[in-house]
Amino acid sequence: MFDVGTAYLAAAGALLLVALGVGARALVRIFREARERSRKRREGELERYTKDPVYDRDPADPEADGAARSTCPQCGAENAAGFCYCRECAAPLGPN
Ligand SMILES: [Zn+2]
Repeated sequence: MFDVGTAYLAAAGALLLVALGVGARALVRIFREARERSRKRREGELERYTKDPVYDRDPADPEADGAARSTCPQCGAENAAGFCYCRECAAPLGPN
Protein backbone atom coordinates (compact mmCIF):
# COMPACT_ATOMS: atom_id res chain seq x y z
CA MET A 1 0.00 0.00 0.00
CA PHE A 2 3.01 2.28 0.44
CA ASP A 3 4.91 2.15 -2.81
CA VAL A 4 7.59 4.41 -4.19
CA GLY A 5 5.28 6.16 -6.63
CA THR A 6 2.90 7.24 -3.90
CA ALA A 7 5.74 8.44 -1.70
CA TYR A 8 7.20 10.39 -4.61
CA LEU A 9 3.87 11.99 -5.40
CA ALA A 10 3.34 12.91 -1.76
CA ALA A 11 6.80 14.45 -1.48
CA ALA A 12 6.42 16.34 -4.76
CA GLY A 13 3.00 17.59 -3.72
CA ALA A 14 4.30 18.76 -0.36
CA LEU A 15 7.20 20.57 -2.00
CA LEU A 16 4.85 22.16 -4.52
CA LEU A 17 2.60 23.40 -1.74
CA VAL A 18 5.59 24.84 0.15
CA ALA A 19 6.87 26.55 -2.99
CA LEU A 20 3.43 27.98 -3.75
CA GLY A 21 3.13 29.29 -0.22
CA VAL A 22 6.55 30.94 -0.30
CA GLY A 23 5.93 32.41 -3.74
CA ALA A 24 2.52 33.73 -2.79
CA ARG A 25 3.90 35.33 0.33
CA ALA A 26 6.73 36.96 -1.63
CA LEU A 27 4.24 38.27 -4.20
CA VAL A 28 2.04 39.70 -1.47
CA ARG A 29 5.02 41.44 0.08
CA ILE A 30 6.10 42.85 -3.30
CA PHE A 31 2.64 44.22 -4.02
CA ARG A 32 2.29 45.64 -0.54
CA GLU A 33 5.65 47.41 -0.81
CA ALA A 34 4.85 48.76 -4.25
CA ARG A 35 1.56 50.14 -3.00
CA GLU A 36 3.31 51.72 -0.04
CA ARG A 37 5.95 53.28 -2.26
CA SER A 38 3.42 54.71 -4.71
CA ARG A 39 1.42 56.12 -1.82
CA LYS A 40 4.54 57.76 -0.39
CA ARG A 41 5.50 59.13 -3.77
CA ARG A 42 2.06 60.62 -4.22
CA GLU A 43 2.32 62.32 -0.86
CA GLY A 44 5.83 63.56 -1.66
CA GLU A 45 7.47 61.70 1.19
CA LEU A 46 9.77 59.84 -1.12
CA GLU A 47 12.64 61.32 -3.04
CA ARG A 48 12.50 61.16 -6.78
CA TYR A 49 14.55 58.58 -8.55
CA THR A 50 16.95 61.01 -10.10
CA LYS A 51 18.55 64.33 -9.24
CA ASP A 52 19.00 65.14 -12.90
CA PRO A 53 17.71 68.70 -13.41
CA VAL A 54 16.45 67.70 -16.85
CA TYR A 55 13.55 65.95 -15.12
CA ASP A 56 12.71 68.98 -13.00
CA ARG A 57 11.87 71.38 -15.77
CA ASP A 58 8.40 72.41 -16.72
CA PRO A 59 7.23 70.39 -19.73
CA ALA A 60 5.06 73.32 -20.85
CA ASP A 61 8.15 75.49 -21.20
CA PRO A 62 11.02 73.68 -22.89
CA GLU A 63 13.24 76.77 -22.72
CA ALA A 64 13.01 77.07 -18.94
CA ASP A 65 15.52 74.40 -18.07
CA GLY A 66 18.09 77.01 -17.11
CA ALA A 67 20.69 75.33 -19.27
CA ALA A 68 23.00 77.36 -21.41
CA ARG A 69 22.48 77.04 -25.13
CA SER A 70 24.89 77.29 -27.92
CA THR A 71 24.12 78.56 -31.37
CA CYS A 72 25.48 76.67 -34.30
CA PRO A 73 28.15 78.76 -36.08
CA GLN A 74 27.19 77.21 -39.39
CA CYS A 75 23.38 77.17 -39.56
CA GLY A 76 22.38 79.18 -36.49
CA ALA A 77 20.29 76.45 -34.92
CA GLU A 78 19.89 76.48 -31.14
CA ASN A 79 21.50 73.50 -29.47
CA ALA A 80 21.38 72.54 -25.82
CA ALA A 81 24.64 72.96 -23.99
CA GLY A 82 26.80 69.91 -23.70
CA PHE A 83 26.44 68.74 -27.26
CA CYS A 84 29.47 68.66 -29.49
CA TYR A 85 27.65 68.68 -32.81
CA CYS A 86 24.69 70.64 -34.15
CA ARG A 87 21.41 68.75 -34.17
CA GLU A 88 20.45 70.34 -37.49
CA CYS A 89 23.55 70.24 -39.62
CA ALA A 90 25.97 68.16 -37.53
CA ALA A 91 28.61 70.87 -37.61
CA PRO A 92 30.98 70.84 -34.62
CA LEU A 93 29.79 73.31 -31.99
CA GLY A 94 33.14 73.87 -30.39
CA PRO A 95 33.96 73.59 -26.69
CA ASN A 96 31.18 74.35 -24.24
ZN1 LIG B 1 24.06 73.74 -37.45
